[in-house]
Amino acid sequence: MRIIDLRSDTVTMPTEEMREAMFRAEVGDDVYGDDPTVKRLEEYAAQLVGKEAALFVPSGTFGNQLALFVHCKRGDEVLLGDDSHIVQHEVGAASVIAGVQLRTLTSRQGELDPKEIEAKIRKAEDIHYPDTGLICLENAHSNGRVISLENMEQIHEIAKKYHIPIHLDGARLFNAATYLKAEAKEITRYVDSVMFCLSKGLCAPVGSILAGSRTFIEKAKKGRKLLGGGLRQSGFLAAAGLVALEKMIHRLQEDHENALLLGQELSKIPGIQLSLEDIHLNMVFFDMSAAGYDTDRLVEEFLKKGIKINPAEDGIMRLVTNYWVSREDVLYVVDTMRELLMGEHTE
Ligand SMILES: *Cc1c(COP(=O)(O)O)cnc(C)c1O
Repeated sequence: MRIIDLRSDTVTMPTEEMREAMFRAEVGDDVYGDDPTVKRLEEYAAQLVGKEAALFVPSGTFGNQLALFVHCKRGDEVLLGDDSHIVQHEVGAASVIAGVQLRTLTSRQGELDPKEIEAKIRKAEDIHYPDTGLICLENAHSNGRVISLENMEQIHEIAKKYHIPIHLDGARLFNAATYLKAEAKEITRYVDSVMFCLSKGLCAPVGSILAGSRTFIEKAKKGRKLLGGGLRQSGFLAAAGLVALEKMIHRLQEDHENALLLGQELSKIPGIQLSLEDIHLNMVFFDMSAAGYDTDRLVEEFLKKGIKINPAEDGIMRLVTNYWVSREDVLYVVDTMRELLMGEHTE
């Protein structure tokens, strides 16, 4: 049975073109600086986000944590949203690797209040205070929404005023760009460094990019080695990453349209609570507690029908569309849901 996998966009398999590119990739020892494919990827990536240089790193978490490690010194304070990936889903790494203190601000659906940021920056020289070392933003946010450019610009103004760098967790940067109908660099112009994933909706099997100034990336390269992320013939992976950046960023709209369709159809099923305005990307969040159907059982029943989904997290279900999920698949998923919750078929 063919499986429709809606657990995440990280489950995406490489495309045929990626497999071909990986097979043929020209490689070398990248720790010696000998891998031409990695170099090409890094140059292309830097250009896409309008930064001087970029670095291929093993994962998104690696890229974010490396950014914290390079921007900050131990004991610094990092300002970021309380629902950000760095706070919620990176195993507390910031305290282990960079040795920084994360000071969380109230996230307003992913956006931070510029005034609150300004108020939280440690300005006075006080022997008791840590230094504010960094501000982290997340766009697209893992809540499925895109942060407005106005919000980023306002935060950028404040950061500039106090000489504090901004790092962007842009795991789904190109999804955000797609939603904003903007180029990625129109988003990243408001930040000093950015991490984005090649291995999510862009279908590359492994890897992320960290980009920033030349000096920043030079330091990050050494930091990457320290953390065990100096890879050898990684051009095999970079080759797939190049296809991701050359081809896959232009088709994300399709995933977004499929997610919206999924959301629209699911919202018609009694017992499913869902906000269509919150569907900016490839992710659909909903609450089905009113349907009176156990969500763990739903996971099992869906699997029997060839659909993989994750169980609810804090009572909320999340379905994610991707390259390998078609419009027909979406309609089949909706049909299956309707059948399970209402016990009926649609024509
Ligand atoms: C997935 C994700 C990451 C981490 O990427 P990994 O490759 O899974 O380590 C970081 N930030 C956000 C917002 C993400 O969605």
